Amino acid sequence: MIQGVFGPWDELLAKDRLFPMQSNKVMQSSLRPVELLVLQGTPFCNLNCHYCDLSATSRRSKQVMPFELIERLFCQLRDGRLLSAELTIVWHSGEPLTLPPEYYEEAISRLMRLAQEGGSGAPRLHFDFQTNGVLIDKAWCEFFARHRHHLDLGVSCDGPADLHDRHRTNWGGRGTHAQTVRGMDLLELHGIPYNIIAVVTADTLSQPDAFYEFFAKRRKQLTGFHFNVLANGEDGGEGVGYGADDRDRYFEFFRRLLTLSRREEGEDKLQIRNFSHTLGRILAAEGEDRPRYVAEGTAPLRQLNLDALGNVTTFYAGLSVDTLADLYGDGNGFGLGNLNQLSLSEMLSSDKLERMINDFAVSTRYCETNCDYFDVCTGGFEITKRLKHGRFDAGETIECATHVKTLIDAMIADISEHLEHVD
Ligand code: SF4
Repeated sequence: MIQGVFGPWDELLAKDRLFPMQSNKVMQSSLRPVELLVLQGTPFCNLNCHYCDLSATSRRSKQVMPFELIERLFCQLRDGRLLSAELTIVWHSGEPLTLPPEYYEEAISRLMRLAQEGGSGAPRLHFDFQTNGVLIDKAWCEFFARHRHHLDLGVSCDGPADLHDRHRTNWGGRGTHAQTVRGMDLLELHGIPYNIIAVVTADTLSQPDAFYEFFAKRRKQLTGFHFNVLANGEDGGEGVGYGADDRDRYFEFFRRLLTLSRREEGEDKLQIRNFSHTLGRILAAEGEDRPRYVAEGTAPLRQLNLDALGNVTTFYAGLSVDTLADLYGDGNGFGLGNLNQLSLSEMLSSDKLERMINDFAVSTRYCETNCDYFDVCTGGFEITKRLKHGRFDAGETIECATHVKTLIDAMIADISEHLEHVD
């Protein structure tokens, strides 16, 4: 949670200075200032990874987000006092490095200027890129070095070549590991730190040591490491589900990674964010005023997305209007509207947003009443539940079981065993 967010926000709501036409109290109390703004500079991608959420059609589009669109959104957020004191702006949902560094120089300079024009309450801006690493060259390294005081870089890599190349392919179907590694080597050569996001597939579950060691060798250059489990066979074409055998495989994989990551201490330790964040939630669950992660994780506005065509979504970072496109009858999925046709204030006072907020609240209430893991759950599975079960008042999905329940079980088993040895 970013400090100082809720004080001024509550004050604004009390004074009704925020979009006065908005009368619905449920909506008002649900909205949060934007902490993460995801800009799709372009949907185009130079790769065709098997598990990508974006459609192939979208990833072949050479659309570029106009600067005017970025400025329009930023000014409306700034003038509506809808920005958090600390705002991270990430370029994602498409390969950002397919646009030249000059595009981002211009975008960053315009955003910094607009933020300063907001006066003493100007948000502190931080920038972030998530890249497949293939196009990193000297010019990009110089760009990242120039902006290192306010920019984080994330590289997507799935580990050793045989794991990475099975799914992270180019449009010709060839693996991209060598190019991604070359990009990471260049970053290291230029002293640019970066974090890693790795996808864990069915194949990774049987190779925890090779997976861990690949990243551990680079740990001095890494600012963080996070893995995403591809738990749904439909996504990657692999037969990983959540039967008893699968559950055991996930559990053993997490246990092995925990053991490996506990071997080293201090600078040599590969910091695995999945574990540090989960541990934080386990510890916080003991407290009287424990956070409501499930509700806060998808609080509307907190994460806001603008795609290259002007469509605005919220709830999850990177949520596309193609997801459940017909759910609310406008063919626009969870889209709040298009910034070329509506102002943000019109979007935030729409009946559609109210319906979406109510659906997410139904989902949260169901989880709170029915799931033993509610206090330690990251949340973020509302749409998955709707996709899998056809309703929001539904329980466990494969993602719940793998991302939350089995991971928590593995961590508690690891902590218990560790404490026994200490005794
Ligand atoms: S694990 Fe799934 S069912 Fe349980 S609280 Fe989280 S989202 Fe809800």
